[in-house]
Amino acid sequence: MADINEIVDQWLRDAHAMEEQAEQMLKAQAQRIENYPDLKARIEQHIGETQSQRERLEACLKTRGTTTSSVKDVTGKFTAMMQGIGGVFAGDEVVKGSLASYAFEHMEIASYKILAAAARTAGDEQTATVCEDILREEEAMASWLSDNMGSVSSTYLRREAGGSDAAKR
Ligand code: MG
Ligand code: FE
Repeated sequence: MADINEIVDQWLRDAHAMEEQAEQMLKAQAQRIENYPDLKARIEQHIGETQSQRERLEACLKTRGTTTSSVKDVTGKFTAMMQGIGGVFAGDEVVKGSLASYAFEHMEIASYKILAAAARTAGDEQTATVCEDILREEEAMASWLSDNMGSVSSTYLRREAGGSDAAKR
């Protein structure tokens, strides 16, 4: 039988690995986008939030007396998943990237809802609050994507149909 605090520690490490993966993915997207300035700007804002999320998780782990080591296998899992959804740098990469980002944000939302409840169950109110703060940032990113995916897709389609080189990214 595993100790409740050991489980919370492991879930925090999983979240930390998820944020490392998120940062990689967001940076790759932001670097490639050229002709969708609003999307690029929102992704760049979320890169900053993501780096801060990783640091806040590190602080939680430190306060709890543990570290972020042994994250490699989890990182591999997310890498594989994201390559599956968004790694195809096809002609419609800006649309596929939005799709993958929206899915990823929802995985983050689920993770932080679970983590906040778990930390609270373990009596770690401080970590629970951090997870709820991060949760709100993930929800804001998801809702921005939700509000803007349609116009990104329409713009892509119009440019593509008009033979514009700006369509792809
Ligand atoms: Mg995040
Ligand atoms: Fe996020």
